[in-house]
Amino acid sequence: MNKKAIIIGSGIGGISASIHLSKLGYQVDVYEQAEKPGGKLNEIREGGFRFDTGPSLFTLPNLVDNLIELSGSSSKDIFKYDKLENVCRYYFTDGTVFNAWSDTEKFASEASRVFNEPKSNVENYLNRVKEMYDLSADLFIFKPFARFSTLRSKAGKKVATKIHKLDMLLSMHKRNKRSFRSKKLVQLFNRYGTYNGSNPYKAPATLNMIAHLEHNDGAFFPEKGMYSIVTTLVDRAKAMGVKFHFNKKVDRVLVDGKKLIGVEIDHEKIEADKVISDMDVTNFYKHLMPKKKLPLRLKIMEKSSSAIIFYLGINRTFPDLDVHNILFADNYKEEFDYLFKRKRTYHDPTVYIFISNKSTKTDAPSGCENWFVMINAPVNIGQYTEEVLSDVRANVLKKINSMLNVDIESHIVFEEMGNPITIEEKTSSAGGAIYGGSSNSRLSAFLRHPNKHSKIKDLHFVGGSVHPGGGIPLCIASAGIVAEDIKNEIIDQQ
Ligand SMILES: Cc1cc2nc3c(=O)[nH]c(=O)nc-3n(C[C@H](O)[C@H](O)[C@H](O)COP(=O)(O)OP(=O)(O)OC[C@H]3O[C@@H](n4cnc5c(N)ncnc54)[C@H](O)[C@@H]3O)c2cc1C
Repeated sequence: MNKKAIIIGSGIGGISASIHLSKLGYQVDVYEQAEKPGGKLNEIREGGFRFDTGPSLFTLPNLVDNLIELSGSSSKDIFKYDKLENVCRYYFTDGTVFNAWSDTEKFASEASRVFNEPKSNVENYLNRVKEMYDLSADLFIFKPFARFSTLRSKAGKKVATKIHKLDMLLSMHKRNKRSFRSKKLVQLFNRYGTYNGSNPYKAPATLNMIAHLEHNDGAFFPEKGMYSIVTTLVDRAKAMGVKFHFNKKVDRVLVDGKKLIGVEIDHEKIEADKVISDMDVTNFYKHLMPKKKLPLRLKIMEKSSSAIIFYLGINRTFPDLDVHNILFADNYKEEFDYLFKRKRTYHDPTVYIFISNKSTKTDAPSGCENWFVMINAPVNIGQYTEEVLSDVRANVLKKINSMLNVDIESHIVFEEMGNPITIEEKTSSAGGAIYGGSSNSRLSAFLRHPNKHSKIKDLHFVGGSVHPGGGIPLCIASAGIVAEDIKNEIIDQQ
């Protein structure tokens, strides 16, 4: 008889784990508290509009391709995506507009033309972040970090001899300031700190390697929108025999000392050989194993930022806008002080506008656009009163009006809001943190919860709140690490 694996949660980490475990011969059941899969990677359909509710930036698509291949199908046939020519259009408060072309040569030329930055500065920087990524991805992303075997592996030894290349001593901002003459270019590259919910004025410059993914490797967009990543992978998992159970909340993980028994759902005990949690790890310990102490690392690790998002159906088109657009705050440093020190939203926030129907035409009715308007926001510590959220809305609309010279409110025909409270309600992420912990210190990589429980050997963890971190590619990588661990256990038992 097949061994049984239970997966708690159908976020991208859980779905990826289900494909891996099924491939390893497990009978897999995924229990999801919501009515549909995806967790933060989700969608709203209303009044002819379709909105991706969470992730909008898609990098390393080959990781999704690999899962599809693993499931026995071909990505070329069922999951198509395009490389974006323009990664993002940036608007600055002095009226400067900058297109961050995907092509490195074009990007460097644009930086030279618009910011008067020597092209060589941009090229050297992109080469350096590529080198950092190539050097460390195996160690930081695709292997179980901070494990003796990893540090002694080929990847570990490679990093050990070139550790200085990882630029761990400076902050992202300090390195960027030393790399570019243009303050605007420094701000643009500082923004990559937000890609894992961190503060670029604190996070180590190692994180500058995030820019490599968009600028050397490329940013992509699925032809049918971000949520098609979920629907495609769930379909593949089902074809392999994985069973998904929706509206089923796991209440407890059952253990007997160090031995895993299974889970409890609606007072029913369901036994399993393996349990893999894709749930935010802080809330996992608090709610599913309340008798176990919250690990110290989770107590001391600063939470990542959250977000406030307005999903707006707009009854006109904006030909100047692209798929991804940023309206920058004037004082970026102060914005991050508000987010991480004062734990409040900033009155002149950086506003991100994502319009998927620029690429996927069917996402909005003809003559309309589907705007996903997002600002970074601190995690919920009780500060989000109705009044605060209404002020945020007013500040966001004011920013859009002033920078795009429009009265946007008069064009809104559909509106819904997501915020740290709703993110926690819908996905059980502590405080609504988007990426679990932040990377605001040099120790962060070591503080992330590992992918395996330290004592209960059949309990594993995937998803954005554990190693290697948040974002679609890293969540998929976490499932690969768990699969590798289980594969090794199977080999050891033979
Ligand atoms: C607004 C926003 C913008 C983002 N932008 C990007 C982006 O552009 N690019 C990018 O790569 N990433 C982005 N992210 C991050 C990305 O969405 C996440 O890192 C990733 O989707 C998290 O996946 P996960 O596997 O951790 O699971 P989650 O998405 O956190 O899902 C966990 C699932 O577990 C379920 N669950 C929890 N507890 C239980 C229980 N007890 N029983 C049963 N089910 C349970 C939840 O309902 C949920 O479905 C963004 C996130 C947000 C919110």
